[in-house]
Amino acid sequence: MLEVRNLSAWYGEAQAVVDVSIDVAEGEVVTLVGRNGAGKTTLLRTLIGLHRHVSGTVSLDGADITRLPTHRRARLGMGWVQDDRGIYASLSVEENLLLPPVVSDRAWPLARVYETFPVLADRRRAAGTTLSGGEQQMLAIARVLRTGSRLLLLDEPTEGLAPVIVAAIGDIVREVKAIGVTVLLIEQNVKFAATVADRHYLLSQGRVVEHLDNAQFTAREHELLEHLGV
Ligand code: ATP
Repeated sequence: MLEVRNLSAWYGEAQAVVDVSIDVAEGEVVTLVGRNGAGKTTLLRTLIGLHRHVSGTVSLDGADITRLPTHRRARLGMGWVQDDRGIYASLSVEENLLLPPVVSDRAWPLARVYETFPVLADRRRAAGTTLSGGEQQMLAIARVLRTGSRLLLLDEPTEGLAPVIVAAIGDIVREVKAIGVTVLLIEQNVKFAATVADRHYLLSQGRVVEHLDNAQFTAREHELLEHLGV
């Protein structure tokens, strides 16, 4: 579904992503794992078209999208959930859900969102400010699904969340996969990554240094925990 070839990205003269090639097949959950500053966020921003100083190619379903603007990528089914979740505090849950324009014929009716995420149905009138971190993450994921996204790019969905909430986010990722949505996520929590993903790419200093299936990844959990310093 997603094919990235020899992708590099720069901030001015400084190169943050170096010759990265990765693949994500339809229906897979794949992680990008690496220390702070490894280039994970820059890579995700490049894939969604928010970072433009790049070389290499990004293809979706075989079509080159490297130069497409972000809104065109969204129309093709790419949805990005940034690490701060982007929830508007003064708006209600439902207003947050209705905010992004629906540009795809795959878009979900609100009823489907509430069926999939009953917690959000219960809290539909609540203000963004009153949501817990886990509920905000759920809302951010539900919001891009509503627009009809079929490839979710998630930037550290578990960051700053308590273990019980991290487990709930794991359930959401597995549910999303079960309905056929493809997921590429940044994750520093090795244990969490092992519970949700099919494959993993390890990044260091902007490069992919290893590519592991989940069995290999799980077998090396302790070593990876040390490597990541978390
Ligand atoms: P983190 O988990 O801390 O976000 P990351 O793996 O996502 O880390 P990036 O945020 O992509 O890494 O950063 C990769 C490199 O690019 C780092 O050296 C970082 O300092 C640099 N960088 C990131 N954003 C900018 C920016 N806006 N301007 C200049 N350099 C940047």
